[in-house]
Amino acid sequence: MRLRQVTLGAALLGVLCVPAHADSGSDRDISRDTLPADDGWAAYGTGTTGGSAADDAHVFTVTDRAGLVRALDGGSDTPKIIKVAGTIDANTDDDGHPLDCADYATDGYGLKKYLAAYDPRTRGSAKPSGEQEEARQASAAKQAERVTLPVGSNTTIVGLGNAVLKGASLQVKNANNVIIRNLDLRDAYDCFPVWQPNTGGLGDWKTSYDNIWLTGATHVWIDHVTASDKGHPDAREPVYFARNYLRHDGLLDITNGSDLVTVSWSRFADHDKAMLIGNSDSATGDRGRLRVTLHHNQFESVVQRAPRVRFGQVHVYDNRYVVPQGAEYRYSLGVSTESGIYAENNSFHTPGHVEVADLVKSWNGTALHQSGTLFNGYPVDLLAIYDAYNSGSERDLTADVGWTPTLHAQIDSAAVADREVARGAGAGRIP
Ligand code: CA
Repeated sequence: MRLRQVTLGAALLGVLCVPAHADSGSDRDISRDTLPADDGWAAYGTGTTGGSAADDAHVFTVTDRAGLVRALDGGSDTPKIIKVAGTIDANTDDDGHPLDCADYATDGYGLKKYLAAYDPRTRGSAKPSGEQEEARQASAAKQAERVTLPVGSNTTIVGLGNAVLKGASLQVKNANNVIIRNLDLRDAYDCFPVWQPNTGGLGDWKTSYDNIWLTGATHVWIDHVTASDKGHPDAREPVYFARNYLRHDGLLDITNGSDLVTVSWSRFADHDKAMLIGNSDSATGDRGRLRVTLHHNQFESVVQRAPRVRFGQVHVYDNRYVVPQGAEYRYSLGVSTESGIYAENNSFHTPGHVEVADLVKSWNGTALHQSGTLFNGYPVDLLAIYDAYNSGSERDLTADVGWTPTLHAQIDSAAVADREVARGAGAGRIP
């Protein structure tokens, strides 16, 4: 019960005055900025203005979870500007005390008991059900109530200086016109992963939280954010049922009919599945939607999905991909059902064991436009190399993705973008 109380005192404490000059790492107040004209798909039609029209009563500076929750107002569509100051941890109670996984565990849930109950060596592919699975769900619901934060229409969220939001999943659900900028979103850690015995042949652990999740969201501009697993890499988690006990889902997933999204100058790091655009081959309602522009972003130590696309027309230009020595890597561009990825002037830095043919993977994809790609400093043709080396069950890809981007900022050469992104992408780096 204590978790559900709203303590007025704590809520008020969460709204403090912070001098405007603390904004962004520069002296400029970015909180009423709007997406520049033509800057990617989010500029389409009415453009993206977020909460820039907020009246003074709806401009909040928040310093803790309670203040942030109060400012978000349950995901209301009232124009609002929310400035995040300092570090906010979503895994806290209404008085600001930290909560850990044991605080959420309820109804007798215990990992050892869960593992004993659903071991595939004895249960095969039977889905978890019964006492421990019910206890897991009840425990997960307690964590979700803390860490999932709804972002409504006409909202701008900006970090002040080097603001950090830990453990949270910002969810833009069936909302329109949202801006999120200059925020370091870390470690959307799931205390209660579920075992899915029928995933991927061997079964797998499924986690719940994306650092940012756009679902049914339109006109969204995400700029100069950093999203990572910082503090809790999945690689350090144990192996149960012969699978890595994953704690994180996506860094930024864009699904369920979301549309008109621009993601710019952001840094996606230290993570497995970074960005999923379209979550199901059978979600034919996504046809004609999922239009996304990704430009001047850095994908660093990302294993896969940078992005993986279904259905959407997705413009991927001037991005920088970095695979450090020794890092796990599967692919960067995932070409899936009816996707139209238009990739221009992206640069890849990889260690010796990663080859050009590894950068693109297709599941039921048909086309990929690519031009101006640099691989460790050398020009390469991703499409020709994909088709030359694709010896699996997938068909060759053609270059005709059926559209040509018209909404975009200046497109730099991959070499120029590479330098600028290395210097300028991520939170705390708005010029
Ligand atoms: Ca997800």
